[in-house]
Amino acid sequence: MSAPPTVAVSIVIPVYNEELNLPTLFARLYPVLDALGRRYEIIFTNDGSADRSFALLQAQHAARPDVTRVIDFNSNYGQHMAIMAAFERVRGDVIVTLDADLQNPPEEIPKLLEKIDAGFDYVGGYRLNRQDSFFRKYASRLINLVREKTTSIEMTDQGCMLRAYGRPIIDAIVRSGAINTFIPALAYSFSGNPTEVGVKHEERHAGVSNYSFYSLIRLNFDLITGFSIAPLQYFTMFAMACCVGSGLFVLVLAIRRAFFDYTAAEGLFTLFGVLFFLMSVALLGIGLIGEYVGRTYQVVRARQRYHVRETLETKPA
Ligand code: UDP
Ligand code: MG
Repeated sequence: MSAPPTVAVSIVIPVYNEELNLPTLFARLYPVLDALGRRYEIIFTNDGSADRSFALLQAQHAARPDVTRVIDFNSNYGQHMAIMAAFERVRGDVIVTLDADLQNPPEEIPKLLEKIDAGFDYVGGYRLNRQDSFFRKYASRLINLVREKTTSIEMTDQGCMLRAYGRPIIDAIVRSGAINTFIPALAYSFSGNPTEVGVKHEERHAGVSNYSFYSLIRLNFDLITGFSIAPLQYFTMFAMACCVGSGLFVLVLAIRRAFFDYTAAEGLFTLFGVLFFLMSVALLGIGLIGEYVGRTYQVVRARQRYHVRETLETKPA
């Protein structure tokens, strides 16, 4: 369980190979927070970076030990695990998540806090004029649509990590012990009074996205299978429709063969077509079930989700 709140705002930032971005991030983030006039802390999780990121974080901790905390993972566990580790340790009343690559401008944080002050317990950002590749934009629009249809989560922009949460939501997330999780959606499911605000979006300050096509697919599988069993149900319904359809088709072929005396070869290839189609449906189904079984296995196994090598922090006064 995380510590009781001792500061007003906790900023949570996952860091993976961001040595080129961190200096600018520090230079822009701290002044914004200093100007808030609230007690704050910033928790960076170094998600197994292979570059100088951790050294930069160490130096930053030495420069601002009062407000800087660093969690160092022994290897790369992914953005959402990095955020989880920070959630388990936050001391703030309000928690804000943000990317390290400056795609979420730190200057937008006060906007989110205003909404929290107005009584909302979850403030999701959505990116105004999103600065990503054409492919990422359209792929994520598609995924948004699938998510809307399969889960009851309403989010304009699930990919935007600039979000603010009330402490009870973070405590609920930590208690849930979720694995393979997609934090914005999980938080939404615990929220009683959510809202959204438009936030600016900038191009990645430096470097390239850490998400490959493959890890994006994995993340979206997490999102959809983690929050609903609708895919399984759709699949079953689709399989039933296929069974009825192909059953009728076979019947028609048999009747034609029996009563209208067509040559034996006619229809054979159609049958092959039907057969291959049904086979691929079956394979898809096995894969889908496998996804759920795999996830169940991970939860049942209850293995430690990540390993923290070191934490740099000053004990609260
Ligand atoms: N990140 C992380 N672990 C990873 C991948 C990414 O902690 O395995 C961090 C990364 O440093 C950044 C944020 O998650 O702060 C978003 O990553 P990225 O910019 O690569 O994703 P994109 O903006 O392309 O979705
Ligand atoms: Mg980014």
